[in-house]
Formats: sequence, structure tokens, C-alpha cells
Amino acid sequence: MNNGIFKFSKPANEPINSYAKGTPERDSLKAELARMSNEKIDIPIIIGGKEIRTGETLNVVMPHKHSHVLATYHQAGEAEIQGAIDAALAAREAWAAMNWLDRAAIVLRAAELISKKYRNLINASTMLGQSKSAMQAEIDAACEIVDFLRFNVYFAGKIYEDQPFSEEGVINRSEYRALEGFVFTVSPFNFTAIAGNLNIAPVLMGNVTVWKPSSTSILSNYYLMKIFKEAGIPDGVINFVPSKGSTIGKIVFADPNFAGVHFTGSTATFNNFWKIIGSNMGMYKSYPRIVGETGGKDFVMVHNTACAKQVAVALVRGSFEYQGQKCSAASRAYVPQSLWGDVKKHMAQMLSEIKMGDVCDFSNFVNAVIDKASFDNIKGYIDNAKASSECEVVFGGGCDDSVGYFIEPTVIVTTNPLYESIVEEIFGPVLSLYVYEDAKFEETLDICDKSTKYALTGSIIGNDRYAVNFATEKLSNAAGNFYINDKPTGAVVGQQPFGGGRASGTNDKAGSYLNLIRWVNVRTIKETLNPATCYKYPFLEE
Ligand code: NAD
Repeated sequence: MNNGIFKFSKPANEPINSYAKGTPERDSLKAELARMSNEKIDIPIIIGGKEIRTGETLNVVMPHKHSHVLATYHQAGEAEIQGAIDAALAAREAWAAMNWLDRAAIVLRAAELISKKYRNLINASTMLGQSKSAMQAEIDAACEIVDFLRFNVYFAGKIYEDQPFSEEGVINRSEYRALEGFVFTVSPFNFTAIAGNLNIAPVLMGNVTVWKPSSTSILSNYYLMKIFKEAGIPDGVINFVPSKGSTIGKIVFADPNFAGVHFTGSTATFNNFWKIIGSNMGMYKSYPRIVGETGGKDFVMVHNTACAKQVAVALVRGSFEYQGQKCSAASRAYVPQSLWGDVKKHMAQMLSEIKMGDVCDFSNFVNAVIDKASFDNIKGYIDNAKASSECEVVFGGGCDDSVGYFIEPTVIVTTNPLYESIVEEIFGPVLSLYVYEDAKFEETLDICDKSTKYALTGSIIGNDRYAVNFATEKLSNAAGNFYINDKPTGAVVGQQPFGGGRASGTNDKAGSYLNLIRWVNVRTIKETLNPATCYKYPFLEE
């Protein structure tokens, strides 16, 4: 037994590969894309380390070429879901009892595997299965997940190290126990890193998970699961259970050992979970931890002292990278009348250069949206805007799903700051913009603050520090991640802990100690060194 007290030092963020022309990483990623495009794999359910094939299969396709099937995957039914809960509970005791340094070593090993041996695999599967460009895959599936894994270990050390004060004659200790039961993890399609973190954050703190991946990110998520196993996560600690949301929810939320849910996805899905959990409260052994990061309607507020070109870059990058399918994507902007002409001119120039198409052609800035349902939903908003007297579609507006689910980067200018496209989450490459009279900066801040139910990310762009400070103060509850003179996307683990309030989630800040703390159940132990031998207190003496 090694009794040394070990501390992990603060990690650096994973360096980002450029994939510029002529670099070796570009060639090796292209080779992996070609290899993966030429195979079709069969993806099992993984429960207690065992691969299970139910024969109830669905296809994984490329969103940018939906006739191309990359894989088939097996869906779990009720028996497999129950099996996953049982496997998680069977693995719990040994995993929770393992020294946290050993759990941390496994997590750091997974980071190394992703950073080096499997970087191309995880990037290529994210590019092909979720239609991400090389750069968007790199910052998500390679860098962000590696950062989550390494920083979580560092933050976990800080949590375990935090111990209560002990006065003379007493020893006080805090034990950071795992939750009593299993954690249900439900991941969205849009970030491979989030799928990894939803599982690893509770697992690092000694918990076991039943994981329902999104049906449209199964390929990369399956490879993640295999990497976790190779890194040494024991069988049953994470159980990979592709299934219909309604089927798995019904079983998991009715289990007495359900100890928490770690979710990222839409507000509607999370609200539904919360309702079911609430109505099942009498069933559970403990109060479940409910942690969810949900939707957004992220804004860019522009002051008339801003540089028009900087505003245009923030809007083009913030709104259209990964086709606007980032929870943090800029989807509404408020631009002063005096600046709009110049901002529009710069945007027109940039958008005329932007190409859309297959992820394997690295000159494409924009790729496809995730699936048919999403395509139809986004197209519906664009069609409505085209027909509305309150809107003008100033850029884009074209939609074509004949080969892949392609939607042009679209900008809608509306005269109604409460028009549907400027207040509802669309989750696609659609930016709605309201041009305000310069003198109405304060009123427009009010609109920005109050017109949507969300509060995830937002930014203020301007060079008048008084105006910037005023906006920062006025919008203090309008975003959990607020940016000054930047786009509202691109949070980096360890630098900008991520999450929002209002209808955007519980704001437990993924990639920080605040999230990890939700996955422990503290036992405080007081030990008295010299126990009392007389029951009387001095005040009893007359
Ligand atoms: P979604 O809510 O449709 O799905 C998320 C997950 O929930 C999927 O795995 C889905 O299959 C599952 N699910 C849906 N209904 C279920 C049910 N009844 N029972 C159990 N599981 C169920 O979201 P999505 O389309 O995958 O992701 C996009 C959404 O995620 C957007 O709203 C976006 O803003 C949000 N998001 C938020 C953050 C954040 O940090 N706030 C990050 C990424 C994505």
C-alpha cells in the first residue's frame, strides 16, 4: 500500500492541429477518412463488457451523403436496458472502492489514447457520422475531450483535498463517496466530447453509468466506448446502450437505484425528464442529482463603436461553424443602424467565399445538418421567414436534401424583435438579426435580455468601455458564458467553464469542479480524541 499524498499538476490544453495543406496530420486524417468510408461496421450494445446484438438494427449514415451507410447499430430493448442497470450496479462496489488515483490513471490513459493513437479514428468518425469539418472535429473530438479528461482529474484532486477544519482534540474528515446507485447519462449528437464527459465526470468520482448515446452520433460514441475499455475502465462501469429514448427513460426512471441523470440536449427533453423524476420521487433510495445543459438562443449585441469587420467575423464564425449546431452558436444579433451597412458588406464578402459540401473536401467551411428531421425543422423557419412581411432573407435561404442535408448559411433581418426565428432555438445555420436605432441601445439590451427563455451564451462587441460595462451589467442573467469583443462560441475547458441558466440548464459548468461536485455524496466523520466522562455542563452549577 502506497500512502503517499499525490497531487496532479494543472494540465495544459491539448494543442490543436491545423490540418493545413502539406502537414502530415492532414495526410493521415485523409487516409483515415478514406479507410472509414470504405467499410461498414456492425455496432453492438455493450453491457458489463459484453457485446450484445439484438438484431433490431438501424443505419448510421453520412449526413452530407445520406445514401452512404457507415454502420448498422443494434438497439436495446427492455431486457437489455434492465441488464445494463444490473451490470452497472454489480460493478459499483469495486469501482467506488478503488483508490481515486487509480481511477484517475485510467482516465488519463484514455486522454493519451485519444490524443495520440486514436486521434484520427475519433476525428474521422465524428467528421463522417456527424458531418463536421476537420477543424470542428479536431477542437471537439480530439482536443475538448482530452481537456475534459485531464482537467477533471486535476479538479477531482482539488475536491478530495478539501477537508474541514478540526479544532483541538477532534479530527474532522470529509469522505467524497460515489452516489448510491447508478447515473443515467444521455448525450446529444453535436459534440463527441460532451458524450465522453457526461460519462467520465461521474465515473471519475466513483460512479457507474448507463449511457444512452444519441442515434445520430453512434459511430464516434462507439469508438469512444472502445477507447475507454482499452484505457482500463472495468466492465460494467460504463454501459453503452443505444435505444429509443422513450423505452430507456421508462425503465431507468422507475428504478429505485436511479441516483442521477447527466444530460445534455434540448430543453424539452430535459423538462420531460424532470417531470417524470418528480412524479416518481417516492420510488428512489436517494434524491437523484439532476444535471442538464440544454438549449440556447445565443446573442451578439453590437454597440455603434464596434469595428464592423470584427462584428462580421464574429457573426459568420459564431453562427455558421458546424452549421449553427453548437449550443453556443450565435443565432440572434442586434446591430445598430449606423453600422449595419458595413457589417452587411463584410458579411456578403465572407459568405460569397464560403463553400458548402462534403467533409472530405477540406475547402468546405459548411457541411450538412444532422438529419432529415432537423433539415425539415430549419427549412420550415426559413420558409416562414420568406413568406413573412416582417422579414427579409438577406443571405442564403437555399435548402437541398437530395444528396445530403444541406442548408445555406442564412441571415434573416426582421423588423419584429419577437419574431419566431429571433426568439426560438432553431439549431441550424440561421442567424436572425434586428437592426436598432443607435439611440435605443438601452432598450435593445432590454429586448436582448427578456425576449427568449434561454440564457446560455452571448457577447457584446464595442469599443466604448462605458457601453460595454453597461451591457455586461444589464445582461448579467442573460448568459452563463458571456464574451466581450468575441463570438459567443468556442469555450475551452479549464479557461471558460461552460453552462447557462434560465431554460438553458442547471449551469453546473462542465469541465470544472462545479460539475464533479454533483457526483459525490459527502460523509463527514468527526472523531473525538478525548471523549467526555461526565454528562454535566458547567452552566448547571448554581
Ligand atoms: P435532444 O434533446 O433531441 O436529444 C438529446 C438526447 O436525449 C439524445 O440522446 C436523445 O435520443 C435523448 N432523448 C430524447 N428524448 C428522450 C426520452 N424521452 N428519454 C430518454 N432520452 C431521450 O437533443 P439533440 O438534438 O441531440 O441536441 C441538440 C440540443 O442539445 C440543442 O437544444 C442544444 O442547444 C442542446 N445542447 C446543449 C448544450 C449545452 O451545454 N447547454 C450542449 C450541446 C447541445
